Amino acid sequence: MGMRMTGPNQLRDSYRKVMETVARASERSRRQAKDVCVVAVTKTASPDQIRSVVEMGHTDMGENRVQHLAQRVASLDEFLSRRRALGAVASRTAHTDVPASVRWHMIGHLQRNKVKQIIPLVQLIHSVDSLRLAEELHAFGSRTERTIDILLEVNTSGESQKFGIAPPAVIHLAEQVDTMMSLRLRGIMAMAPYSDNPEDARPVFARTYELFQEVRAAGVAGQHFNILSMGMSGDYEVAIEEGANLVRIGRAIFGDQEQPEPPQG
Ligand SMILES: *Cc1c(COP(=O)(O)O)cnc(C)c1O
Repeated sequence: MGMRMTGPNQLRDSYRKVMETVARASERSRRQAKDVCVVAVTKTASPDQIRSVVEMGHTDMGENRVQHLAQRVASLDEFLSRRRALGAVASRTAHTDVPASVRWHMIGHLQRNKVKQIIPLVQLIHSVDSLRLAEELHAFGSRTERTIDILLEVNTSGESQKFGIAPPAVIHLAEQVDTMMSLRLRGIMAMAPYSDNPEDARPVFARTYELFQEVRAAGVAGQHFNILSMGMSGDYEVAIEEGANLVRIGRAIFGDQEQPEPPQG
């Protein structure tokens, strides 16, 4: 993308531009902006940028690494509780569009030994890509009496992608997950292979949409199976046109500046 923006005005502009583009793409696919959830992926975002999008009223944030996510959740929670305390004192000047809390999405590969750490922090795991991981999540959910919302990550690109379930195995895994009472299968997630041309992603997204409908029609997951997570900065318009109702957007909002590693612990 070749853009490095850090200033608050640039951030506001790029955020609005993304939201408008999402709205137009939603209309082209006979839906409304509110039907498509935008997860702001904070991989390249500074803490200030994260606060800024939340102050603009954004509620869904995503990270792909457990350590980063934990650190960002903590710093944003602190910010939000400080704001609440301030708002209680000076309610007349408090920004009303700042959400009381945000939803965090785990979008990256999840190792089984990180399940315990991540679950209390997130509302949705996008990247369940094996029976063993599903079993680990279920076991933790049962132990702690939680219901855990998950998506199955599917490899529909036909490439030798690192993670993701092969499409023919998806229905069977969905059936198995359906028997795990502490998991709630909400849908599927997919990534298109990297390309400069977003049209290259269209067939991958179309196949993923078909698979999503197939699982739905098979009735293995019930009413709450309704999330199709696909589309990133380079291809989210195409993804929405092909039926995505959740897009994960990082660089188009925050720019592509690498962020330093958070301290361990
Ligand atoms: C980084 C990442 C994104 C966002 O990518 P951008 O190109 O920055 O929009 C979306 N999904 C996953 C799984 C990611 O790791």
